[in-house]
Amino acid sequence: MPDSTCSHLKTIENIKHAKRRECDECVKIGGRWVHLRTCQECGATLCCDSSPNHHATGHARASGHPVIASAEPGERWLYCYPHDAFAEY
Ligand SMILES: [Zn+2]
Ligand SMILES: [Zn+2]
Ligand SMILES: [Zn+2]
Repeated sequence: MPDSTCSHLKTIENIKHAKRRECDECVKIGGRWVHLRTCQECGATLCCDSSPNHHATGHARASGHPVIASAEPGERWLYCYPHDAFAEY
């Protein structure tokens, strides 16, 4: 059970929500995205792995920011990259 070993998800108390309904990186390059995720460390809103550019995963790898939240309406979950752990809120 990866959930029990994740120390990151437990520390998130105030969820950061997307400031805009667009991927911060795709808008710079004219890219398209499928779903949006918001980094819980710095608040960057980036596209998911179903999107061609995988900006949220790229950001997590490059920055070491471990936790994202779904920025999709009606979705209320967090995901930790290093532990591959989901949590609903
Ligand atoms: Zn974790
Ligand atoms: Zn993107
Ligand atoms: Zn970040």
